[in-house]
Amino acid sequence: MDSKPLLRSLVPAEVDHLVADAGLPSYRADQLNQWLFERGALRWEEMSNLPQAVRTDLASRYDLTGLETAERQVAGDGTRKFLFRLRDGATVESVIIPMEDHATFCISTQVGCAMACRFCATARGGLVRNLDSAEILEQVLLLRADLEAEPPPDLGGRQFNIVFMGMGEPLDNWEEVARSLVTMTESKGLAMSSRRIQISTSGPAEGLQKLVTANPGVGLTLSLGGSTDEERKAVMPVPGRTSVAEAIDLTVRYAQRARRRATVAWVLIAGSTDDPVQAQRLAKLLRGKPLKVNLIPMNPLDDSDLEPPKEKDIQAFRRVLTDAGIDTFVRTSGGRDIAAACGQLRRRRQKS
Ligand code: SF4
Repeated sequence: MDSKPLLRSLVPAEVDHLVADAGLPSYRADQLNQWLFERGALRWEEMSNLPQAVRTDLASRYDLTGLETAERQVAGDGTRKFLFRLRDGATVESVIIPMEDHATFCISTQVGCAMACRFCATARGGLVRNLDSAEILEQVLLLRADLEAEPPPDLGGRQFNIVFMGMGEPLDNWEEVARSLVTMTESKGLAMSSRRIQISTSGPAEGLQKLVTANPGVGLTLSLGGSTDEERKAVMPVPGRTSVAEAIDLTVRYAQRARRRATVAWVLIAGSTDDPVQAQRLAKLLRGKPLKVNLIPMNPLDDSDLEPPKEKDIQAFRRVLTDAGIDTFVRTSGGRDIAAACGQLRRRRQKS
């Protein structure tokens, strides 16, 4: 990797210090923060109100960008998928999913992933490295620029939500994710409400504990994988080291601290996690807790014998949960025609 750090790794308050340390007035820090985050500058030359000497000095010590677009695909349903190349040649995926009145940005936190979930294409190559907070943020800036340059015709507004649901386990890279959250939510950063941000985790205990302690106020989705410890371990071998009971308990604790309901994501795989017996056990586990359920029929994967569930089995599973009084939604991930399953685009690229 290039030896220069990325300037956007600094949170806005650190940018203030950097400018003060250079002996510059505080309005220069406001200008620089604005260029970095509000305007998302991708070239030093864009920072037209900063003196050339300041820009030259910054460029001698920092890199401004760490990502370039290697591929962009648009699906029939409007989903846009991006493959970004990092400075060391590694690649990560991000997605824009147009919703009714906003867009959802799905972003990555690691190159690859160590969690080995069986339904996931990212899991296949293992973990390569963590992303730096600037690399996490820059995905958002590039997706925002794409949305602004080409607003989807039937999208009501240009507001976006962020879900940490791309490649990688966010809580396995908590320090960098936490730094990116600071910049996303600070007024001198992206000024986003934490209500518009969602972390999706496979539920490693250590990571969940850090999240409960930090309580960043963002939404939490726990991917459970099974209704017993054995079932969870079979589908999600590494996160499965945290028992179902502990993963749910920590998720509930976070929901209580953050004062917002959390979500349990349940990936439905034919002949496995779509079993109504699992639905009954799941209903028992979740009843009365501040949790709702998202059922996610798995995306077909290359080189995998796992199959998506049948529609009637999805509905039967859902009925068991709703009959138990648990709010349950079926979420299909968009863009099937462009290999929307997380990690699939990168994997196909690597193979070719
Ligand atoms: S589903 Fe998420 S946690 Fe599991 S291997 Fe894939 S990227 Fe990692």
